[in-house]
Amino acid sequence: MNTDELLRKTLTSDELPTLPTVASKFIHLTSQKETTLADIAGLVSQDIALSSKILKVSNSEFYNFPQQISSIDQAVSILGANAVRSLVLSFSFLSLESSKDESKFDFQQFWEKSLASAVAAKLILEKVEGADTENIFIAGLLQNLGELVLAKTFPDKYNTKLQTVEGEVDENGNSRILISETNHSFVGAEVAKKWGFPELLIQPIQFHHQPDKCTSTDAKIQLTVDTVHLSDLLVNILYSSKPEKYHRQFSEESKKLLNLNSEDIESILEQMHSKIQEVGSYFDLKIKSSKSIQEILQEANIRLSLLNLDYDQINKQLVNAKIHLEQMTQELEEKNRILNNLANIDGLTGVYNHRYFQNALDQEISRSIRQKSYLSLLLIDIDHFKTFNDTYGHQTGDFILIEFAKKLQKHLRKYDILARYGGEEFAVILPETAGEEAVIVGEKLRKIIEKTSFANDHEKYHVTASFGQICNRPVSDSAFNKNTFISQADRALYMAKDKGRNCVVSYSPQAG
Ligand code: GH3
Ligand code: MG
Ligand code: MG
Repeated sequence: MNTDELLRKTLTSDELPTLPTVASKFIHLTSQKETTLADIAGLVSQDIALSSKILKVSNSEFYNFPQQISSIDQAVSILGANAVRSLVLSFSFLSLESSKDESKFDFQQFWEKSLASAVAAKLILEKVEGADTENIFIAGLLQNLGELVLAKTFPDKYNTKLQTVEGEVDENGNSRILISETNHSFVGAEVAKKWGFPELLIQPIQFHHQPDKCTSTDAKIQLTVDTVHLSDLLVNILYSSKPEKYHRQFSEESKKLLNLNSEDIESILEQMHSKIQEVGSYFDLKIKSSKSIQEILQEANIRLSLLNLDYDQINKQLVNAKIHLEQMTQELEEKNRILNNLANIDGLTGVYNHRYFQNALDQEISRSIRQKSYLSLLLIDIDHFKTFNDTYGHQTGDFILIEFAKKLQKHLRKYDILARYGGEEFAVILPETAGEEAVIVGEKLRKIIEKTSFANDHEKYHVTASFGQICNRPVSDSAFNKNTFISQADRALYMAKDKGRNCVVSYSPQAG
C-alpha cells in the first residue's frame, strides 16, 4: 500500500477516530476572528467533566499561577484562548478511546509517550529565551497523531507496538500497514487538516521527523517543529532500545537547532522524569515507566561495558584456546615422532632396532637397483660376550653394548645405517659402497673397538668384535634375495669367528 492509498483508506475508514464534539467546535470557534472569550468559556462550560479537568490543570504547578482559578471564565481570561484551546485539545486527544481488543497497538504506551513528548517539548522550549511556550505542550502531545489514526483505522493490521513494522505480511498472511516515520507524519497531518487544526499544530505533525523539510516562513512554526523534533529524540531515550544513541542525537541537535548549551540540556534531562509523573497526574494518566533518564543512561552504559567485557573475555578465551590447541598439536606431533622413533629405536643402545634394519635394507636394495649401485652390509658381533657378562656382570655388559654402539655410530658416515641386529650383534648398511670400501670401513671400526677403553666409574674394559662383510649390486627385485644377502654376511661373520675373532671377513661363495 503506498502512502496515497493509505491516506485514502484512512480518511474514508469507518474506524477513523473523531474528535469529541466540544473539541471540534472549539477549534472551529477559535479560528474565527469575532469569537470572544465569553464564547469560548461558554463552550467549555457545556462539558462539565472537561471543565473540571481544565480547572484542575489551571490551578496546578503546570501553570503556576499565584491566584486560585475557580471558574472557566476566569481560566479563559487568565490563561488566554490559546492556552485553553491547548488544554481542551489535550484532554480530547488523551480521551480518544483505545481501539478494539484485537489491536496489537499498545495504547497505554502511546499515551504515555505522547504525554512525555508534550512535557519534553515544553521543557525544551522553556530554555529558549523569549520563546512563546503557550502551544508547545499540545504540539508535542499531538505529534504522533498519525500513529494513533493508523492504529485505530487498521486495528487488526497494526502489527507491533508503536512505530516500525517490518515486512509486508503478518503471521496470518494479511498485508501489514508499514507504519513508518513518513506515512504516519503524512497521514497525521492530513487528518489534522481535516479536523481544522491550525498550521502551528499541523506542521509539527508533518515534519517532526524531518524538521529541515519544513518550509514554513513563520519563525514560530519553524521553532515549534524543531522543538517537537527534539522532544521526539528526548522521549526515545526513555522508550527506545537505544537510549544512548538518542541521548547523543538529542544533545547534538538541540545545540545545533536551538543553540542550547550543555547546562540547559542537563537540566532538561534531569527534570523529565518528575515532570512526566506530575503532568501525568493532572491528566489522570498513570505513567508506567518509572525510571529517570539518568538511570536509563546509566543502565545502558553498564550494559554496553558488560557487552564489551564479555567480548574481551570471549576473545581472550578464544586466543587462549587457540594457543592451547597449537601447543597440544605440537606436543602431539612430538609424541607421535617419539612414538614412531620408539618403534624403530633399540631401547638399550639408542640405535635403530632390528625392525628398522629390515625396512631400511628393503629401501636400500630398491635404491641400489634404481641407481645400479653397490650395496654393502656389515654384521658385527662382540667376541666372547657371554664370558664378558659372566666376568663383569650383566649391567656392565649393558654398559658395553651402549658404548659400543656409540663408538660405531661416531665413526660411520651420515648415510650409513647402524642397527642392533640382536643381542650383542650389530648391523651396518653401507649404501653405494663397494666391497673393498666396506672392508676398509669394517677394518677401521674393528681397530677402533680394539683400541677403545670402555671406562665406567670403577674400571676400564676392553672388547673386540668380529665382522662379516657382504657386498652386492642388485639388478632387480626378482633376482635379489634380501635374506640370502643377510645370511651371506652372517656366514662371513661366522668365518671371522672361525678365523680367531677380532677380524673382518668378506663373504665369498667358495668360503661358503
Ligand atoms: P662369540 O665370540 O662366539 O660371539 O661368543 P659370545 O659369548 O659373544 O656368543 P654367544 O652367542 O654364546 O653369547 C652371546 C652373549 O651375549 C650371551 C648374552 O648374555 C649376551 N647378551 C646378548 N644380549 C645382551 C644384552 O642385552 N645385555 C647383556 N649384558 N648381554 C647380552
Ligand atoms: Mg652372538
Ligand atoms: Mg658374540
